[in-house]
Amino acid sequence: MLCEFDYLAPRTMPELFDALAAGGPDARILAGGTDLLVNVRAGLVTPKCVIDIKKVSGLDGLSFDAKNGLAIGAAVTVNQLAEEPVVREKYGLLVACAESLASYQLRNRATVVGNIVNASPCADMAPALLCYDAQVVIASRQGSRTVPIREFFTGVKKTVLAQGEIVEKILVPLTHAGGSGAYEKLKRIKGHDLGIVGVALLKKDGLVRMAVSSAAPTPILVRDCKAGESADTLAQAALQAVKPIDDVRSSKEYREFMVQVYVKRLLERV
Ligand SMILES: Cc1cc2nc3c(=O)[nH]c(=O)nc-3n(C[C@H](O)[C@H](O)[C@H](O)COP(=O)(O)OP(=O)(O)OC[C@H]3O[C@@H](n4cnc5c(N)ncnc54)[C@H](O)[C@@H]3O)c2cc1C
Repeated sequence: MLCEFDYLAPRTMPELFDALAAGGPDARILAGGTDLLVNVRAGLVTPKCVIDIKKVSGLDGLSFDAKNGLAIGAAVTVNQLAEEPVVREKYGLLVACAESLASYQLRNRATVVGNIVNASPCADMAPALLCYDAQVVIASRQGSRTVPIREFFTGVKKTVLAQGEIVEKILVPLTHAGGSGAYEKLKRIKGHDLGIVGVALLKKDGLVRMAVSSAAPTPILVRDCKAGESADTLAQAALQAVKPIDDVRSSKEYREFMVQVYVKRLLERV
């Protein structure tokens, strides 16, 4: 059973901010709804007002320019991103992470921005965005601010977003674009499933960047490493960055073990 709520579908940013202000803490943004509606159905969230952002002009933009890189609007779905030729050419790690998120059908609804705002430790888009040093553009009635994605997550399902703010877009600079990247995700089943642990690795210009999901309260960016460092050193660097817990899906020790296994496997692949 769903609770009763008003449904609003603003067309412009000012209309969106008016709706957010009117709804106050009882309002929730709806993008693809693949997290929100699951939570509403489970009774974990009981919004009085749901604000659909898919019709807001400009939020569906996915663009690339040779100076600033990629811009991913708040309504861009995971499949749109993964199928965009310039993303496939320059941001292969984004594609790898996108293609490991849920099923094809779900990726047709789920947005990239919704995935990071939901701020699950196992969010599959986060490791790639961390490796590329993405910037999160946050907008409100008062204006906008930009936060590096490594500062965006503050805890399990928590972010720096304040009341009245939305994520307008994610900017992915060119600094690490064109690198060779890959993602490994451990799951309980072979089909689509949330990750028990996930490791992303990106190699470019003698630098190795790694990020890990499901092994700390937030997705984690590992310290930068040099491509010449040994596989054991890189695996240790990843291990030192994470703080896994025991839960229903895995023990802490198994997660720690698999982080190291994946770093070594990924190094061979990139
Ligand atoms: C069956 C199933 C399997 C899944 N498997 C995976 C998986 O393998 N890996 C994975 O990472 N995730 C998985 N998910 C989770 C989910 O699909 C993603 O987190 C999804 O990307 C969320 O995007 P959305 O557009 O559906 O967000 P929504 O559900 O619309 O929103 C998510 C949250 O973010 C808020 N929000 C959305 N957009 C904005 C914005 N622009 N500004 C401010 N707040 C906003 C909403 O209010 C809500 O709180 C799965 C979900 C399901 C149902």
